Amino acid sequence: MTNKIEISEEGKAAIYKRAKGQCECKSGICGHKGRCEHILVEGYWHPHRKSLIGSFGHDETSNFLAICVRCYSKLVTGKNTLRF
Ligand SMILES: [Zn+2]
Ligand SMILES: [Zn+2]
Repeated sequence: MTNKIEISEEGKAAIYKRAKGQCECKSGICGHKGRCEHILVEGYWHPHRKSLIGSFGHDETSNFLAICVRCYSKLVTGKNTLRF
């Protein structure tokens, strides 16, 4: 019952791989059009949970987006429509 990111190192690696090392953020609040595609640097990105509801537990990686630090700070501080 927290915003705590519960994901394994393996899950994180899988997300990174799926994202091809680029930010998967598609939020309009960041200023980028479409997908961000900012290069993700190890240790400087966050797995961001898309939704608290859904198939969480089945495939942990499908419920997360790879988000660069720049987007992440916007997502956590800005007003947005994403759920936490
Ligand atoms: Zn980004
Ligand atoms: Zn963004």
